[in-house]
Amino acid sequence: MKRTVEILGIPFYNVSQNAFVDELIDAAVNKERRFIVTANPEIVMHAQQDLEFNRAIQQADYIVADGIGVVKAAKSIGKPLKGRVTGYDTMLGLLEKANEMKMSVYFVGAKPNIIDKLIEHVKCEYKGIEIVGARDGYFTASDSEAIAEDILVNQADFVFLALGFPRQERWISTHLDKFDRGIFMGVGGSFDVLSGCTKRAPDFWVRFNLEWLYRILSQPSRWKRALAIPRFMLAMKKQRRHG
Ligand code: UDP
Repeated sequence: MKRTVEILGIPFYNVSQNAFVDELIDAAVNKERRFIVTANPEIVMHAQQDLEFNRAIQQADYIVADGIGVVKAAKSIGKPLKGRVTGYDTMLGLLEKANEMKMSVYFVGAKPNIIDKLIEHVKCEYKGIEIVGARDGYFTASDSEAIAEDILVNQADFVFLALGFPRQERWISTHLDKFDRGIFMGVGGSFDVLSGCTKRAPDFWVRFNLEWLYRILSQPSRWKRALAIPRFMLAMKKQRRHG
């Protein structure tokens, strides 16, 4: 039985960041298949209205709390989570171990110039990793099949998809049945950060749990998306009241 805490109908896996990476490495070593969703309040709110998306993410083996809002919500209902488990930190942890263990990785997502820079970076910083495939995230529905085929032929240990939500989770849920191995995870804007093209929030903002605010301030066009945060808090208040 997996230890989960349910927040607005979404079962969050209660695990620490490091233990989660170790668990995924074990699964990869055993040539198993895993689908991971890293969800923040925006994703939880989206899943309330978009039932097809909700079904797609409920297919995941793990949904983890990629957002301080989710961690606080769990605490407020008396079922605390061990902490945030972010897509970016999980990907970094997996890349480090994949490097040591000489495992293979497939990257799908982000703009063409970003994916080129990402490959250069990974080749230089993680010499033990075998990159078995990489392509940008601007493709048509028919390319989508071809990408799945290519991943299948190349038998990647890890497949990271940086297409933004809900696209990356939909892609994984649509194609998952074709695979019997591989760790599949949507990582949002992580390729932009890892390639060095976008800065992650400086430590100060991360430490004080203000990464969400940093993202709005550095990309003001995101403010509309941030409205999901107060909506999430309101929904949690209602859940506690009816509880
Ligand atoms: N993206 C993509 N294909 C698309 C739309 C977006 O590959 O059709 C990429 C985009 O270039 C960026 C990432 O998906 O690298 C989305 O980043 P964002 O910060 O919006 O993701 P979030 O973590 O907020 O879901």
